[in-house]
Parts: sequence; C-alpha cells; structure tokens
Amino acid sequence: MTAPITTPSEREEFYALLKRFHGHRCPMSVLGARLGLAARERVGRHGEDGDVAAVYYHRTCAVDGIQVALGTTSGNTNIEVRPEGIHRLEAINKTRRMQAVLSLTDEALRRGKEYGDLRRSGGDPEKMEAILKGLEEAPEAELIKVESFY
Ligand SMILES: [Zn+2]
Repeated sequence: MTAPITTPSEREEFYALLKRFHGHRCPMSVLGARLGLAARERVGRHGEDGDVAAVYYHRTCAVDGIQVALGTTSGNTNIEVRPEGIHRLEAINKTRRMQAVLSLTDEALRRGKEYGDLRRSGGDPEKMEAILKGLEEAPEAELIKVESFY
C-alpha cells in the first residue's frame, strides 16, 4: 500500500502540491485531502494499490484534495461528484474488494466555518494560516468519522 504521510517534510511537500493543484489554500481543500488520505490508508491509492474509485457527495474545494490524495481524478474518470451537500466520501478498491465510507466531523466543519468567518470579516492572515495548519496536523479522529470500512 502507498505509504502514509508521517513526517513533517512529507506533509509540507504534500500540501504544497495541493496548493499548486488547487490554486489557493483553503479549509475545504485541506479537509478533502484529509478525507482522501484517511481513505488511502484504508483502501489504497488509485494506480499504486489497485483500481480505486471515489464518490463525493458535495461539490466543493474538497474534491481537489481528494483527487490529490487518492489519485481518483476527473481525468481517469475515477471520481464522481454528486452535489447533495453532504461531506461524505466513499472510496472503493475494486482490485482488492475494499471499501471505506468517511465523513467530516462537526469539529472539522466548525473549524472550516471559523476560517470562513475570519475571511469574510477581513481576516487575520496569521490566524487563518494557523487554522489551515491545524487542519493539516490534527489527529484523524478529530476531523474524520469512519462510517464503515471493510
Ligand atoms: Zn478552495
């Protein structure tokens, strides 16, 4: 399986790639990446660990985080976005017959909203960056709820 991100330098490199791909730094792209990485640790990354496909139930910046983390992209047609307004990711490894369904916790959404409120009020860039760093580094259980995994 694709090695998980464990060191600070691996994390920094990963989120720099996400920023280049997505075009800006924001809570939902980071939270999408956290969902994608959590799915990757369970079912693997598309192309490296088998044929992985994803469904995400919200059309937000999170989709880009999922694509970068999980390798399920619009180009390889392995991501489907259903705009139902639910922050839920289903990831299926067809080769290994594994599936994970993950969603964001209330705490994850609270932090995303805090960032949005700051941005709307003119924002303190240092505080906003601290929120994003916090989302990158928080223990998985604070941000991700595992709905099912088999
Ligand atoms: Zn964004």
